[in-house]
Amino acid sequence: MSVQIRVEAMRIAGEKVTTPDVVEVRSPYNGEVVGTIPKGQVAHVQAAFRAAAAYQPTLSRHERYEILQKAADILVARKEEISDLITAESGLCKKDSLYEVGRAYDVFSLSARLCIMDDGEVYSCDITPHGKKRKIFTVREPLTAISAITPFNHPLNQVAHKVAPSIATNNCMVLKPTEKTPLTALLLADILYDAGLPPAMFSVVTGAPEDIADEMLTNPDAELVTFTGGVPIGKYIAEKAGYKRKVLELGGNDPLIVMEDADLDKASDLAVAGAYKNSGQRCTAVKRILVADSVADRFVDLLTEKTAVLKYGNPFDPEMDMGTVITEQSAKLFEARVNDAVAKGAVLKYGNKRDGAVYSPTVVDHVPFDCDLVREETFGPVAPVIRFTDIDDAIRISNSTAFGLSSGVCTDNWPHIQRFIRDLRVGTVNIWEVPGYRIEMSPFGGIKDSGLGYKEGVLEAMKSFTNLKTYSLPWE
Ligand code: NAD
Repeated sequence: MSVQIRVEAMRIAGEKVTTPDVVEVRSPYNGEVVGTIPKGQVAHVQAAFRAAAAYQPTLSRHERYEILQKAADILVARKEEISDLITAESGLCKKDSLYEVGRAYDVFSLSARLCIMDDGEVYSCDITPHGKKRKIFTVREPLTAISAITPFNHPLNQVAHKVAPSIATNNCMVLKPTEKTPLTALLLADILYDAGLPPAMFSVVTGAPEDIADEMLTNPDAELVTFTGGVPIGKYIAEKAGYKRKVLELGGNDPLIVMEDADLDKASDLAVAGAYKNSGQRCTAVKRILVADSVADRFVDLLTEKTAVLKYGNPFDPEMDMGTVITEQSAKLFEARVNDAVAKGAVLKYGNKRDGAVYSPTVVDHVPFDCDLVREETFGPVAPVIRFTDIDDAIRISNSTAFGLSSGVCTDNWPHIQRFIRDLRVGTVNIWEVPGYRIEMSPFGGIKDSGLGYKEGVLEAMKSFTNLKTYSLPWE
């Protein structure tokens, strides 16, 4: 199925704004133009922040609930069309893009339900010898405006995770989606306006990062920058945005650890789901599979068998388990890293085949823990197996990269489970689940190079998007 070429405009406080120059968005699968976006300039970003800062949202909690739930319902009603657009611009297969629309439904519907909760606290002050008959209360207030920047790998859901909590807390947000997959974000803006969102509460600016990114980081009305993307840009933002608050959700290099007592059939199912879903392009994808030496041969056989039956290629074919990766250049990088690992002693068991941006699911065994394939973030469908001797070795290898996002562990040994929960230097430890397992409202985010420790997930985002004010009253 093909999607009509979308000649898009920015949405600045609901107004459609175009520019003479445009950026083309091309299908990673066949290179066809899917649409164009305006090549916005600093003045556009400034106009969007001016509109955001000038608007004082007055939506009641019930009104916010209604807008968010309505948006969730529209997403489901239009899921085929939205998933087609995600697939067209990202190359993700239909199974993945339909799944993503379902996740975005969860984000909006949970934000709807959570925004009716008031988490205000009360502190009685007559509780020490020098106490007073007073009470201190907490109240949350929205920020001047929020600056949001999103990556390509979930064109809808990454945006949902920023804008839904922003609406839930009566904030105004200016979004700059990635230039690689910006069309879905623009469609989402229209869905939100249709659901009744006052347009000043959400603007989308588009263009080349070299033209507009710095303004997104330094505009005086942007009180907080929320960014999801890679480590190099995340670290640039940390410096450039200076005193502004920042929520940085960066890259990952997540292990799936398979201990010798593990049910290998179950463990290899998790490895396949974790390594290849979304073409391996998830910050929490399984990027390293650490397997106990004694069971590694059997595990690798199962993993190879289950990888070999996956269908990949044309992302619009509903039978496909995987579409493309984002660009041919990324696919070439994965190929080169696998070849480098093999040159350093790894054994290619399956895949490492490339045709443009179509890159096969790939299994590599005996991977040295310190080669680029597994030391760096390889943001694609590669399942590299690293063998370890005992639990100390597994934890040492797991903690040996600069990243610290999430992890998955396959074992039923309770002392080992406790040890992993305590000693893995990551934001999440999932026992008998993939590292990516979460619900959309649970706290989510990494440490070390994966993030500063401030979490996303609807509830945590709602907290970080607000100023907590206290007021106190005499209280007899
Ligand atoms: P990227 O870092 O290349 O780009 C992310 C965004 O930053 C894009 O919108 C891009 O236009 C923008 N950008 C480019 N230059 C900028 C600058 N100088 N200042 C500010 N913004 C700038 O990331 P990507 O390739 O789109 O996405 C893949 C990366 O995102 C991976 O590293 C992945 O792990 C990470 N990611 C992290 C999470 C998480 O929650 N931790 C989730 C998804 C993806």
